[in-house]
Amino acid sequence: MLSELHTGESATVLRVLGHGGFRRRIMEMGFVRGKEVKVLLNAPLKDPVKYQVMGYEVSLRRAEAAMIEVTTERDPRPAVAAGEVVEHCAGTPVENPQKTINIALVGNPNSGKTSLFNAASGAHEHVGNYGGVTVDAKKGRFHHKGYTFNIWDLPGTYSLSAYTPEEVFVRRHLKEKRPDVVVNAASNLERNLYLTTELIAMNCTAVVMALNMFDELEQSGAKLDYEALGAMLGVPIVPTAARSGAGIKALFDRIINVYENRDAVVRHIHIPHIQELEEGVDVLREKIHEGAPHDFSPRWLAIKMLERDAEVEKLLAGEPGYKQLAELRDKEAERVEHALGEDVETAVANDKYGFIAGALAQNFTPGEREQMKATEAIDSLVTSKLFGFPIFLLLMWLMFECTFSLGAYPMGWIGSGVEALGEWIERVMSDGMLKDMLVDGVIGGVGGVVVFLPNILILYLFISFMEDSGYMARAAFIMDKPMHRIGLHGKSFIPLIMGFGCNVPAIMATRTIESRSSRLITILINPFMSCGARLPIYVLLAGTFFPQRAGLVMFSLYVSGILVAMATARLMRKFFFRRDETPFVMELPPYRVPTLRATARHMWEKAWQYLRKMGGVILVASIAVWFLSYFPQAEGNTTAQMEHSYIGRAGHAVEPVMEPLGLDWKASVALVSGAAAKEIVVSTMSVLDAVKGLTQRSALSFLVFSLLYFPCVAALAAIAKEAGGWKYAAFSFVYNTSVAWLLAWMVYNLWGMFA
Ligand code: GDP
Ligand code: MG
Repeated sequence: MLSELHTGESATVLRVLGHGGFRRRIMEMGFVRGKEVKVLLNAPLKDPVKYQVMGYEVSLRRAEAAMIEVTTERDPRPAVAAGEVVEHCAGTPVENPQKTINIALVGNPNSGKTSLFNAASGAHEHVGNYGGVTVDAKKGRFHHKGYTFNIWDLPGTYSLSAYTPEEVFVRRHLKEKRPDVVVNAASNLERNLYLTTELIAMNCTAVVMALNMFDELEQSGAKLDYEALGAMLGVPIVPTAARSGAGIKALFDRIINVYENRDAVVRHIHIPHIQELEEGVDVLREKIHEGAPHDFSPRWLAIKMLERDAEVEKLLAGEPGYKQLAELRDKEAERVEHALGEDVETAVANDKYGFIAGALAQNFTPGEREQMKATEAIDSLVTSKLFGFPIFLLLMWLMFECTFSLGAYPMGWIGSGVEALGEWIERVMSDGMLKDMLVDGVIGGVGGVVVFLPNILILYLFISFMEDSGYMARAAFIMDKPMHRIGLHGKSFIPLIMGFGCNVPAIMATRTIESRSSRLITILINPFMSCGARLPIYVLLAGTFFPQRAGLVMFSLYVSGILVAMATARLMRKFFFRRDETPFVMELPPYRVPTLRATARHMWEKAWQYLRKMGGVILVASIAVWFLSYFPQAEGNTTAQMEHSYIGRAGHAVEPVMEPLGLDWKASVALVSGAAAKEIVVSTMSVLDAVKGLTQRSALSFLVFSLLYFPCVAALAAIAKEAGGWKYAAFSFVYNTSVAWLLAWMVYNLWGMFA
């Protein structure tokens, strides 16, 4: 078994045990008969284990590796010879006066689909160096040579089976949207070609392959006759380098050619299967052919039926002859499986990889994988037993320390600017309500938040860098074991880290988690990951009350959030969701030096979002808070006025609840106003001058409360949408607020006991 190998050893795969989605997934990642696997590294806690297969790095849990049978001797059974059956596609006549071409981008995660999409359409979609960043289809538009291209950036998949939500999504898109041309983005040939064979087998939609990251392939010294390979597959191949934009024009020229049926390379080929299987396919195909016509080729349907593909089963189930067909299938599948000694799914995957191996052997000479070596060197440090966790913690600490200490300088400048602006208005305007509103409401509120822009930028700089370089996937790798303890797996870790930026996209990013219960838990604990909007609160209070230890206080807050999240996850596993195991198959992409442009763009996107919020919801809320604190007017000093105002009355109403936490009515109002957006807590505080009412002790309780209490409206909406119901959002609201109150109360009282 694979799990018995030691670091550095290699073996040849014999077969994958287990069943269903799990096994399918493992096979897609390249663990098929005859392939060599090498153990690269154990995670610091001995689980998961990093393997190399087909030039990729993949991590598996030990328990999953125990399902893969290997041999250290040569494979006794040779793979099927890769001959090919050729069938020319009936050229469909083109009637398209508008000259619009619909394109679907399909490819493995991390093959550069989004980069291609951005390069072509000029969009700024998020690019990241780890699997599963794109979770939705994004549509873009592009004009070239008088044609209009509608391009859909689809989620990454390894195949077109029906096991993961992404695969089902892509398959439906192909069936329902009927793209004119499928662009298959591929970066590293062998495993990416598996998906290509699925596209070839599926139907006659023309496929053009964008052989992306060609720059890396050339650098490695590899030689590829892509014209010949394309001719063999019946798929035109165009080398591209989406990051620099090279080859994009050529790609679209080729797409036009294919679309206009002028491309000589386009053919429909059949991937040959082993004799026994082909016989079974023929029997079923004939039967399917007799029935009603379908969107898909009968051959493909026949193969999928033999594989017991759930979606195809659904498709055919309503048809009159289905019962007979299913009986026939059962008989044939049993015959084939008996003859081959393996199930149909395995046989099909093996044949496809055999075909790929044959095609590559003729056209491809692998080069030195320089990048692989660098990646291995970095990984031996970053994921090592000794240094893995310390490096991770150091990076996290560095992130928060820089956020605070580096951010302090530009923060000071912006602060002085805001102050000067306030003073200037104070001088030039005559006294009156408008002036009060501008100075206390707008400048006080918005100005109180805008000063934190540098901190947010620095935080995002770190997160972007970790995402783009590939470190994030390693963090997930070393965190798998600890995550396992709380009933989740390493994959949940990425959305959690993303939550430090903003919980809304982070909650959306949980879509890559296959298991429903893991996904729900990850969604519900996400708000405990302290988002960037809460950062201003920390910077303000930690800086005011704990000036010497501000970095440490912030770091502790973030860690506390994580601990509460972990405890919550455990509780949920225990009481709400039965344990369910999903395979931890995670690709570890090679490290890439992030381009300055991409990183700068990510930062700018965040800054722009922040500024837009500033001009929108925060401006409105600041004025509203000011208004509520200005009316009704009262005699006497400012404090008397505040007390008498609407907001004062509201604050006094909630004060009894917050009093055990050491918080007065101003602090309470500030917290409640954070429902719209957490930045507003700070702007309300500055409008109400609430900091004055706090002490070190109550400031800490305020910090803890604001870390944990109810998520903002946008996050609640995201929870409802992604989890599938408002009851989850309601749960989050009630649960988080209770936890926040309880912990803040504990902190406040413990401080009282010891200090
Ligand atoms: P997707 O998951 O398929 O959408 O892939 P992305 O577009 O997010 O890209 C994954 C990673 O590959 C990112 O780090 C990109 O910067 C990088 N990348 C994309 N295209 C190229 C390319 O042509 N050359 C190189 N060297 N890197 C690329
Ligand atoms: Mg993408």
